[in-house]
Amino acid sequence: MEAAADSKSLTTIRWSVALALLVVCASLVAVITSGRPGPPGAIAGAGAPAQASSAHPLALIVIALAAYAWVLYPPTGGVMVSAAVFFCLIWAWGVLQTVSLSVDLAAFAVLLGVVASAQRHRFRRLHRLRQVLEDLQEEGSVKEQAAAHAWQSNTGLQKKHARYAQLQAVAEQLSNMTDRTPIANLAVERAFSLIGKSDVCLLFLVDRQRQELSLFASKKRDDLTSVRAKHGDQFDRYVLRTQRPLLVNDVRRDFRFTVSLSPERPIASVVACPLLLAQRAEGVLHMDSAQAGAYSQDDLRFLDILLDLISAAMTNAELFQQTQHLAMTDGLTGLMLRRPFHEQLTRELTRASRSKDAVSVVMLDVDKFKDYNDAFGHTAGDLILKSVAEVLRTATPAGGAHARYGGEEFAVLLPRTKRHEAGDIAEAIRRTVEVQVHRSGRGVAVPVTVSLGVASFPDDAKEETELIRIADQRLYQAKHAGRNLVVAA
Ligand code: GH3
Ligand code: MG
Ligand code: MG
Repeated sequence: MEAAADSKSLTTIRWSVALALLVVCASLVAVITSGRPGPPGAIAGAGAPAQASSAHPLALIVIALAAYAWVLYPPTGGVMVSAAVFFCLIWAWGVLQTVSLSVDLAAFAVLLGVVASAQRHRFRRLHRLRQVLEDLQEEGSVKEQAAAHAWQSNTGLQKKHARYAQLQAVAEQLSNMTDRTPIANLAVERAFSLIGKSDVCLLFLVDRQRQELSLFASKKRDDLTSVRAKHGDQFDRYVLRTQRPLLVNDVRRDFRFTVSLSPERPIASVVACPLLLAQRAEGVLHMDSAQAGAYSQDDLRFLDILLDLISAAMTNAELFQQTQHLAMTDGLTGLMLRRPFHEQLTRELTRASRSKDAVSVVMLDVDKFKDYNDAFGHTAGDLILKSVAEVLRTATPAGGAHARYGGEEFAVLLPRTKRHEAGDIAEAIRRTVEVQVHRSGRGVAVPVTVSLGVASFPDDAKEETELIRIADQRLYQAKHAGRNLVVAA
């Protein structure tokens, strides 16, 4: 607003000066021509001194205005005004030829010289200033670009940092997981939320028996219908074959794949990574979108790292399960050991006391086993223990459990089984061992026998150690009674 007002007043001043100049010049011409008797070029007449005295101040005013024009107008305007004034004064001097006009003319010439030199300095300074300004502007725009670039990479870094912080959180969560299913669910949840942009996130595991991929965990956009691709598609098979991460920006432009004609939903871009366990591809994590170019190399890298974490967690989970299994299982017979048997019995008794069910325990000991060992060696004895374990496996009803309780002693847990039913089962075991399990040595087959003791909750005891103690006591009663016997009461 202020700048507009300033330029308006400058224009007014310029016009006023131009007008004043015109008026004064016109007056000068009028003064000179008014007293001139003869034709142009004739010697001045009697009125010449009076004309000279009036022309002199007018000439000074014209000179002053011309000097002012240099300040007021652009250089071209200043030159034009000075040229006009100069010709006007030359003409006046030519007509009047007075000393005062000669002085005026000389003064004007000097003034023009001074103004021209001042203007030259001014222009040089202006030029330099303009150059400095241009340099500053250039520097400014370079800095602006650098700032924009820095801002962009800063936001990119922040995003990356947030993602990697999330990965750290995932790693911490995974370190507490010892089962495949929650690990797989966490993997698809996190991949889906952190990478985003996807319609589905699917984790397939290799089914070695069927030699195909099988859907293990999935996450999809809420508005999609359930995922029907239960055994993977061309992208998953490609990743499984190459064992390398895959990024497809536009399926239609990727010669490796045929365009998706899935009736379920269209697929334009895909990102998928193999799940490597012990350097073997055991699964594929797959994300896709109907939008082309949905994923970046950063997304792929992120998914690859996530898969590394998942793979480590799954390997740990497997090792944990194996260690647990080893800690709970007898290496020779594959039966449960004493401690987990006790734990299961405790759980069963708690359940039975709530539901008012019966629970029975059978204790079993191989008869005269030391003699067999002495006669035929430990390896033959081991085979007998394995055979007895096999009989127990077949004889125990579903829901029951069996354990190698000690050297050649075994225990059977029978939930929801009353004492007389347990007695029958024990009797069936005794008979099967007698008939089936034989030690064969030196061409002679000698049947192996076992003695068994039965105790039941709640008839015999209400507590776990007492129940075992009574069953054991009855087992020894069977031994004393001649072996190859069941004692259930
Ligand atoms: P009883 O009828 O009174 O039970 O006589 P037994 O000889 O079976 O009883 P004893 O307790 O005297 O001997 C148990 C034997 O079981 C001693 C041991 O050498 C054998 N034994 C324990 N564990 C194993 C094993 O893992 N393998 C083999 N081969 N023998 C074992
Ligand atoms: Mg024994
Ligand atoms: Mg024995």
